[in-house]
Amino acid sequence: MHTEPAFRFAPSPNGELHLGHAYSVLVNRGMAREAGGRFLLRIEDIDQARCTREYERQIAEDLIFLGVDWDAAPRRQSEHFADYAAALEALCDAELIYPGFMSRGEIRTFAHRYEADEGEAWPRDPDGAPLYPALDRDLSSRRREQKMRDGERFAWRLNTAKAVASLGTLTFEETGLAADEGGGEVVARPLEWGDVVLGRMETPTSYHLSVVVDDALQGITHVVRGRDLFPATSIHRLLQALLGLPVPRYHHHELILGPDGRKLSKSAGDTAIRALREAGLGAEDIRRMVGLPQGPAARSVSRGSSARR
Ligand code: GLU
Repeated sequence: MHTEPAFRFAPSPNGELHLGHAYSVLVNRGMAREAGGRFLLRIEDIDQARCTREYERQIAEDLIFLGVDWDAAPRRQSEHFADYAAALEALCDAELIYPGFMSRGEIRTFAHRYEADEGEAWPRDPDGAPLYPALDRDLSSRRREQKMRDGERFAWRLNTAKAVASLGTLTFEETGLAADEGGGEVVARPLEWGDVVLGRMETPTSYHLSVVVDDALQGITHVVRGRDLFPATSIHRLLQALLGLPVPRYHHHELILGPDGRKLSKSAGDTAIRALREAGLGAEDIRRMVGLPQGPAARSVSRGSSARR
């Protein structure tokens, strides 16, 4: 059992870190320090088609530049597929997952057709994607196995309604949002996500599954991340309950938005930390740009010398 506070920063090396990540990691590191906890780094690189070692190297460089250090060697998800496969198998044994044969394109087409025919909206998840129609949720095992033998592509999907029905109300503690913004003791609403993907043919995991397994394996007690991931916490909470994993506390901080008022993206160009660093800015400039007070490192540096690094 891990009782020592442990925090983590979990970037995906599929692009450069930008000001939004800088804010996230600095808030996270600051909270870990304040709690006297460990600060761990996790490289979320299960998407091997988009993640690269070069981006991973740049992430480490950016963090060092920002004055962020981490305890222990980073956990690279692509090296731990066996852990996720074991969790997936446990859910399979409990008959809580099934192979869903509809592709993303087919789901979109289904939703559009439904909307045209029925004149009402097909439900969407909190990210705006149409919910899985789940037409193949109740296929007979013979039919299912036949399709798999025929090489039809599929993804392992959670039977969310069944999973929810097997458990009572689930809650988690949220400290990043005020009570009137939905913070405090939050009731998880996993049904909003429908039958989420937990594993793929080539990769025995998905973002939701590996994040939950890793938070437990790394002994994470405090998850600090952007508000865009607040809704996903409902699915994470459900998976923790199904897999018998401890529940960390959550802190979903506000997002740094671009001049157009939208979330920064990985192709954000001039907000990339590397570009700012190469333009001669220092870590303190970045802190200022994201609205954070001067850091402890800079305070001691500026006491010793007035020169800008
Ligand atoms: N890998 C995710 C990202 O880069 C973060 C996941 C998390 O913090 O739970 O957005």
